[in-house]
Amino acid sequence: MDYDELLKRGKSGIPEQMEEKKRFEIPAVKKHTEGKKTIITNFNDICSTINRDPDAVAKYLLRDIGTAGVRADGRLILNGSFTNDELNGTIKKYVDNYVICKVCNLPDTNIIKVDRIDMIKCDACGASYQIKM
Ligand SMILES: [Zn+2]
Repeated sequence: MDYDELLKRGKSGIPEQMEEKKRFEIPAVKKHTEGKKTIITNFNDICSTINRDPDAVAKYLLRDIGTAGVRADGRLILNGSFTNDELNGTIKKYVDNYVICKVCNLPDTNIIKVDRIDMIKCDACGASYQIKM
């Protein structure tokens, strides 16, 4: 399934106003295991929901769970086997640290660089603060 199709699916049937007010939810990891590898099949979907660059999320995730991996066709392929709890947990940590605004708790933020310092800039409340990537 390609990305446009996913997008259409996600939006179909949801009235516009509801969609705006919809609570922010991180999609649960969908994965399967192939030999000694764990494949997160909805990785790009997760990244587009949390509005972050898949490369940046992958880098964090690999470091957090301590393995190597590659991205391919919207999936993330990890060396080793991991449980859903581990994977959902590390993505939640990423979101808590780098997506949710620590001032207003909304996810409407962007990561920007100011003088080579990574900052969170919140579109909802206007806060900006330094983060450690
Ligand atoms: Zn905010």
